[in-house]
Amino acid sequence: MSNPANRTNGAATATISPQATDALRAQLRGALCRPGEPGYDQARTIWNAMIDRCPELIVRAAGAADVIATVRYAGAQGIPLAVRGGGHNIAGNAVCDGGVMLDLSGMKSVRIDPAARTARVEPGATLGDFDREAQAFGLATPLGINSTTGVAGLTLGGGFGWLSRRFGLTIDNLLSVDVVTAKGELIQANEKRNQDLFWAVRGGGGNFGVVTSFEYRLHPVGPEVLAGLIVHPFANAKELFDGYRKIVAKAPEELTCWVVMRKAPPLPFLPPEVHGKEIFVLAMCYAGDIEQGKKAVAPLQALGKPIADVVGPSPFAGWQQAFDPLLTPGARNYWKSHDFIELNDAAFQLMVDAVASAPTPDCEIFIGHMGGATNRVRAEDTAYPHRNVEFIMNVHTRWSDAAQDRVCIAWARDLFDKVAPHATGGVYVNFMPEDETQRVRSGAYGPNYERLAKLKAKYDPANLFRFNQNIGPAA
Ligand SMILES: Cc1cc2nc3c(=O)[nH]c(=O)nc-3n(C[C@H](O)[C@H](O)[C@H](O)COP(=O)(O)OP(=O)(O)OC[C@H]3O[C@@H](n4cnc5c(N)ncnc54)[C@H](O)[C@@H]3O)c2cc1C
Repeated sequence: MSNPANRTNGAATATISPQATDALRAQLRGALCRPGEPGYDQARTIWNAMIDRCPELIVRAAGAADVIATVRYAGAQGIPLAVRGGGHNIAGNAVCDGGVMLDLSGMKSVRIDPAARTARVEPGATLGDFDREAQAFGLATPLGINSTTGVAGLTLGGGFGWLSRRFGLTIDNLLSVDVVTAKGELIQANEKRNQDLFWAVRGGGGNFGVVTSFEYRLHPVGPEVLAGLIVHPFANAKELFDGYRKIVAKAPEELTCWVVMRKAPPLPFLPPEVHGKEIFVLAMCYAGDIEQGKKAVAPLQALGKPIADVVGPSPFAGWQQAFDPLLTPGARNYWKSHDFIELNDAAFQLMVDAVASAPTPDCEIFIGHMGGATNRVRAEDTAYPHRNVEFIMNVHTRWSDAAQDRVCIAWARDLFDKVAPHATGGVYVNFMPEDETQRVRSGAYGPNYERLAKLKAKYDPANLFRFNQNIGPAA
């Protein structure tokens, strides 16, 4: 079994001449750094500590002009180019060994137009940056569940979280993008201009260019929502899941409820004797009127005999950060994910069995709750095709000692393989680790792959943007 930590993402170790580097540096408003220079290690360090790669140079872009200069430079010199947004992607494609890394994490501005209910967001903004600005006006768009995730990569893969069953995926709320293409030209794409590119970036990842600005539709949300956790003893997981499944099948679209199974972290509302023991958690958010929400969550609260029920009114921006302490950067991580239309007893039992053998206390299996508005878009209307999915399982393996790499990765792969016969075969591209390139065509894109490959040939025939879940240009 190969170990992803020992592999690179295939960048050639091109040697860049000092003259060419100086010429690029002179064009930039942002910084250029080489190994050993200030900012270099900070820029190449990303969320997943499994990824330790050393680009030959890093451009820390300050704006679209820096992006254009860097893309033209890499294209002209034939040098591999990796693009970093928030640096959260599990596969680690934001960084390359050798080549150029284009670090967008300094481009963080978020401008809200409260009258038009739209947001203009730069690609270095995190979900927390976006929520902070939008919530100042009681507005939000569907994003993910961990506030330090980058808006850019999340959006380009699809994007889902607590608001998605009500308002759709992040891409269903995307109005336009500014994209620097492989030719180094900045073009806009929306429903009227460059529609084919706009279709491709809604799920096609960073394959088609570097997005320097995203425009989103916003919705009134909060400032308080009904949200929180119900924590149960693990022994009752099967009956609880049965009840959960029946309740969410009829739940209003405002209600989203995920299942998390893991060893209990030392949360202050859990009795000390539960810490470190397996637990079954319902994590929920009602994106609507709080009194209506109380009625919607009551059946979930009536299930079993919980150890703790901490569901209540909560600031939306605070709930968006609720999982941050469990998802801090710097740990080693490996994920495996499946999509489901129905989650049957056999698949759930396999997950229950796996929780008991989780190799570290930080490993977890979560079941994300989809459906609702995410499934009211046709599979062919955006590059993201999984418009019939009701649940997403993510086996989230997390540890700190490199000596445990093999056992942790094996645990995730074993469960993934066992559950596969019960799943759709589809996968959310943003949950794929770097060793799943064989799943890109049929798993991530399925019916949309051929069209994506043709658009790749149109917009990036030389595959300059290849550090991603790569779509090869059609011949
Ligand atoms: C702890 C954690 C929780 C998560 N929770 C959720 C969740 O709730 N919902 C969800 O949908 N996803 C979730 N994700 C997955 C997340 O959507 C992806 O990891 C996403 O790729 C992160 O985006 P980023 O900008 O931070 O990543 P990066 O690693 O910077 O980039 C990811 C990919 O996108 C490309 N890219 C980044 N910016 C640009 C750009 N401006 N132009 C072109 N290409 C670009 C990169 O080259 C790279 O290939 C989670 C991830 C983590 C680690």
